[in-house]
Amino acid sequence: MWTFDGYSECTARTDKVKYLWYYALGLTGESGELVEVLKKYYRDVKVNDLDRWLSEAETAKIVDEAGDILWYLSRLLEKVGSSLDDAADGNIKKLRKRATAGTLTEVQRTNDKAYSLPLDTEHPSKNSS
Ligand SMILES: [Mg+2]
Repeated sequence: MWTFDGYSECTARTDKVKYLWYYALGLTGESGELVEVLKKYYRDVKVNDLDRWLSEAETAKIVDEAGDILWYLSRLLEKVGSSLDDAADGNIKKLRKRATAGTLTEVQRTNDKAYSLPLDTEHPSKNSS
């Protein structure tokens, strides 16, 4: 299993451009590729099958694009003198602070069918026990 530090060392060895704008554009492009999978999923689910979960191919594509996003994010953070570890640590601290303050609450779910598409519920594997 990769650690963020080990992963960032690997991204450094595969980085040929090393410009901040390149990382920002890459993050945007790869995020668009990931969202495109979800857009097509919602488009097809809406039309055909409201109960269909993501296919294995769709899930694999999302994971692949998330990896591309992670690469650009790792490079961008290193360029500004930080790291994925710093970002993760900072985010956890922020979430803990919100939880302590009582501002981090469970999202209210609605029974309205229009808002109950499969992606808005738990993954089926989490409901099998
Ligand atoms: Mg990609």
